[in-house]
Amino acid sequence: MRIGVPTEIKVHEYRVGLTPSAVREYVARGHKVMVQSGAGAGIMATDEAYKKAGAKIVKTAEEIFAKAEMVVKVKEPQPNEWVQLREGQLLFTYLHLAPDPKQAKGLVKSGCTAIAYETVTDDKGTLPLLAPMSEVAGRLAIEAAGEAMRRSEGGAGILLGGVPGVPAGRVTVLGGGVVGTHAARMAVGLGAEVTIVDRSIPRLRQLDELFHGRVRTRYSTLDTIDAEISVADAVIGAVLIPGASAPKLVTRAILKHMKPGSVLVDVAIDQGGCFETSKPTTHAEPTYVVDGIIHYCVANMPGAVPQTSAAALNNATLPYGLALADKGLEALHAHSEIGRGLLAGLNVHKGKVTSKAVAESLNMKF
Ligand code: NAD
Repeated sequence: MRIGVPTEIKVHEYRVGLTPSAVREYVARGHKVMVQSGAGAGIMATDEAYKKAGAKIVKTAEEIFAKAEMVVKVKEPQPNEWVQLREGQLLFTYLHLAPDPKQAKGLVKSGCTAIAYETVTDDKGTLPLLAPMSEVAGRLAIEAAGEAMRRSEGGAGILLGGVPGVPAGRVTVLGGGVVGTHAARMAVGLGAEVTIVDRSIPRLRQLDELFHGRVRTRYSTLDTIDAEISVADAVIGAVLIPGASAPKLVTRAILKHMKPGSVLVDVAIDQGGCFETSKPTTHAEPTYVVDGIIHYCVANMPGAVPQTSAAALNNATLPYGLALADKGLEALHAHSEIGRGLLAGLNVHKGKVTSKAVAESLNMKF
């Protein structure tokens, strides 16, 4: 199959659909890969590196969209990209169509077949192409918290790991899913005192075993959250209720119970945030202060480390992308985890929205 990788054009998107090492895998299976010149610049991958992996470098995105049978990207197509998609062409990327009727209409009109990373589901019911970004965001959350806690950044001036004779910083993680677990691992690694709060008792049991008693686990109630945030030096917001906005676990009233100079990192900001005082920020200006509490609410945290993020994303997407390249649409009907996953990822096909959840939230024909 002819695969095309255009340069990402969404503002501040530095990742790329295929890394050179993923290109090599496609080429080794007999596929032809075209990469737009400069597409890898954000992850420090040169055109030379892509050529070495077997890609053909082309000058423009137009050429890629015109010639590729499958376009592999990271972010949803922008308006000047979706008009270039055509009937029968495969698009494999993050789409997030539910809140984006304009894009949905554009994709439907193009006649392309669009498979969305974020709805590809494995046999355990988890989302394998979203998880790597949650892993990155969870780990980054502790780096962000550590930095914001410095006095020079307006924080209380506490070192997460403490030193012998001086207590470590206290980190409370709200939500012990993928983000929360990876945040906890980083915090434990730095020597912080860590508490994970979740409303799932089975999950708390798993976490208790995973961390061998090195973290405290607490069931999520108003009382627990109030007590934990009052003693925390950093609170990581990592809750998710699938398909819904994040619950506001820390209201403005209880924010006042936090210690001055302590830090909130609201990773759940992409779902509206789990602190009442959260509002989305960018990497250019990641923090702001409310009632003496530093808020970090960057909505695309993995964008700060595109080399790691693109590599992690490519590891996860590769088996699915290769199946599509090898078998085309037949891959969706293979009786395998990959086939079932791809079918769950199918969002638009032959001029129709094919995901029930997306169609319902857009009020479109299914
Ligand atoms: P997940 O489903 O793996 O984990 C969510 C956890 O929250 C679950 O364990 C669930 O039991 C728990 N939870 C739900 N309601 C709760 C409550 N009231 N109290 C305590 N715990 C509760 O989800 P995830 O992959 O860890 O993602 C967490 C959030 O991070 C999502 O909103 C996701 O979109 C977001 N995220 C943001 C970025 C970013 O750049 N800002 C990047 C990746 C993920």
